[in-house]
Amino acid sequence: MSKLSIIIHPDPRLKKVASPITNITDRIKQLSADMLEAMYEASGVGLAAPQVGITKRLVVMDCSNEGEKKELILINPEIVWSSEENVSFEEGCLSIPDVREEISRPMSVQVQFIGIDNTRREEIFDGLWATCIQHEIDHLNGKLFIDYLGPMKRSSITRKMIKLKKQLNRKK
Ligand SMILES: [Zn+2]
Repeated sequence: MSKLSIIIHPDPRLKKVASPITNITDRIKQLSADMLEAMYEASGVGLAAPQVGITKRLVVMDCSNEGEKKELILINPEIVWSSEENVSFEEGCLSIPDVREEISRPMSVQVQFIGIDNTRREEIFDGLWATCIQHEIDHLNGKLFIDYLGPMKRSSITRKMIKLKKQLNRKK
């Protein structure tokens, strides 16, 4: 079992704006490795540090096809360009289990970030990778994908999650 547990919505920790990482310490390296482990264990394609209770600008992701494994660690990621064209994907979130909704976002984005080896990088993401990185950067800004939905739908999902959390607490 992974050392980290993933926070379920609603939780004030998922609403905070995360702070930039100024130093890539051994702790940050260990955290990235633990986050990747937790992400793979939960069969997710992306995980942001606030989802495990760490309010830092760190994201891990892997949107490759099964068996390929192409893990990516992004420190202080920032979108510097978005395409005008949008695309819709059915999104899910490890902090909102078993909920999937169609969300429309720019089809491609250009992202600046620092790699775990402390190098400055810039990459263009398309398709699922683009959706995923935008979803994860939203987490760093205290935003969830259900915030793009109408208020009725959003509150019905939140009620469902409150119920789920009660059930999970009972099992403990
Ligand atoms: Zn998420």
